[in-house]
Amino acid sequence: MKILIASDMEGITGVTNWDQVTPGHPEYVRFRKLMTGDVNAAVRGVFEAGANEVVVADGHWNGSNILIEELDLRARLNNGSPSLFSMMQGIDQNVDGVFFIGYHARQGSQEAVLDHTWSNTCVANVWLNDLIAGEYTLNAALAGHFNVPILMISGDQTVCAQTTEQIGALETAVVKQATGHFSADCLPPDVSQNLIEAAAQRATKNLMKKTAPKPFALKTPINVTVELNSSDMADKATLMPGVTREGLQLSFQADDMLKAYSAFRALVLMSYPR
Ligand SMILES: [Zn+2]
Repeated sequence: MKILIASDMEGITGVTNWDQVTPGHPEYVRFRKLMTGDVNAAVRGVFEAGANEVVVADGHWNGSNILIEELDLRARLNNGSPSLFSMMQGIDQNVDGVFFIGYHARQGSQEAVLDHTWSNTCVANVWLNDLIAGEYTLNAALAGHFNVPILMISGDQTVCAQTTEQIGALETAVVKQATGHFSADCLPPDVSQNLIEAAAQRATKNLMKKTAPKPFALKTPINVTVELNSSDMADKATLMPGVTREGLQLSFQADDMLKAYSAFRALVLMSYPR
């Protein structure tokens, strides 16, 4: 049994501002260590439950945040950027289940630490077949393309609630109660990481008992709409073939989630300000 741990940083234990998750800032050094700790807790839970393979995807910023020298010896790490599947690097039909560790709520959420969707610079909103999407939606739908279910999530209470509502009855580990975009009531790592480990263990056991949520597969073809933050961004992204524009909203249709995911990423990359 093989688990992919897809990790991000904004929903890691103790994180409440961008300095803590931005390479080059002195605070970042501490929080990389905490990110590695949250991921390791999930790895422990998986192996305690009896799975035999774990691959970790480092999905924040440049994909080089987790301290490999401190990573649980039983795991492997997909590190670096860009990679074919970005936050979900390592996903394929041989993966049995996916964990989201350190995730955050979608752009525009209340009581949600560092809520955004893919790029806080460029993206205001994303819809997949009229479903408002967070990063968890995009990544769950990509896993669904390979018929792989999402089993657990860790982050603040808001991302856990949003994901459970959209994707199904995942196991959750709430490591902080967000009170705003830049504020939360945070558990210390020794406490939050025990929660993550226990949720990871339950999630893996659910899979073994066949009581885990079903894969989150979207109906194809997939209609994608991306609302950008400004018209100069929309001007640039409109150059992409097959895209129609209405104001700041750009739409396209993709045959399947694999194509939708990569076209979405390309569109956002094109839209970045110079
Ligand atoms: Zn991130």
